[in-house]
Amino acid sequence: MNIIIQIDNFSKSYGNLKAVNGISLSIPKGEMFGLVGPDGAGKTTTIRALCGLLKSDSGNISLMDFDIKKNRKDIQNNIGYLSQKFSLYEDLTIDENIEFFAEIHNIKKYEERRNELLEFTRLTEFRKRQAGRLSGGMKQKLALACSLIHKPKILFLDEPTTGVDPVSRRDFWKILSNLLKDGITIFMTTPYLDEAERCNRVALMNKGEIITLDTPAKIKESINKKVIEIVCDDVRLAGKLIKEKLDLDVQLFGDRLNTVVSNAESEFKRIEKLLTENNISINDYRINIPSLENVFIHLVKSSETN
Ligand code: ADP
Repeated sequence: MNIIIQIDNFSKSYGNLKAVNGISLSIPKGEMFGLVGPDGAGKTTTIRALCGLLKSDSGNISLMDFDIKKNRKDIQNNIGYLSQKFSLYEDLTIDENIEFFAEIHNIKKYEERRNELLEFTRLTEFRKRQAGRLSGGMKQKLALACSLIHKPKILFLDEPTTGVDPVSRRDFWKILSNLLKDGITIFMTTPYLDEAERCNRVALMNKGEIITLDTPAKIKESINKKVIEIVCDDVRLAGKLIKEKLDLDVQLFGDRLNTVVSNAESEFKRIEKLLTENNISINDYRINIPSLENVFIHLVKSSETN
């Protein structure tokens, strides 16, 4: 396999806080890799270290066979990074913003590439519009175009669709899958587990460590459990009771309550009995295969109680 990103035992602390604790990862060329985990897990620290924007305390990182400590410039010339704080120049037009990033990368003849990127992101007809007057989704596509002007081999995306509306998110994902067809490798962090499902492989990070890493399908199979989804009155109280009296893993999603269990039929009977005794009526229920979100919440909780 052609490994394009190699991380061996990477650690990083901020003062006494160990943000990343000895993680290792190998990413093959052409993969769409997703790093997910709760806030503070260490995702941004990892992505910034991969881009050469912060130094590791220990461990080795190499990209495209370049060592990040020795060949930082070579690496930076070949990667694109779209961070949460990526800033466009609001008073410059779409065209001018891309031109600006071309200049930063020292690219003289950028016009053809710019046209290509504008077509690709369907921004051509707006090219003379100032960035400050674009919608959130369009700004994000422009930021993506800017980070692709130098034809990077690896694209790093740190929560690229946070705060972007669902339609634009779908659009953005279409662009990403086209990039993959062209052979680019994508390493991303996302808080949206439905997006993580689209990655070839996903790593779940918590408190600076990787607690699982596999394809989304294998991760879901691995816990060998079912989810009982219940719609009932007073879900909060119901959740509290199920957790305290039956010692089950309870996850609340709006007006629904999910519990991750090994034996769904018998556990449902226990839940039904408990809720009836407490005058809480069940309006609807169903037994599902766990979603990636169910599995991740379950794994994070289990890793914290161990
Ligand atoms: P994530 O991206 O998963 O939310 P981060 O990598 O941003 O996680 O942060 C990991 C931990 O390191 C958090 O506890 C965060 O508060 C801390 N941290 C991140 N950056 C700094 C910094 N510059 N100085 C001090 N602590 C930081």
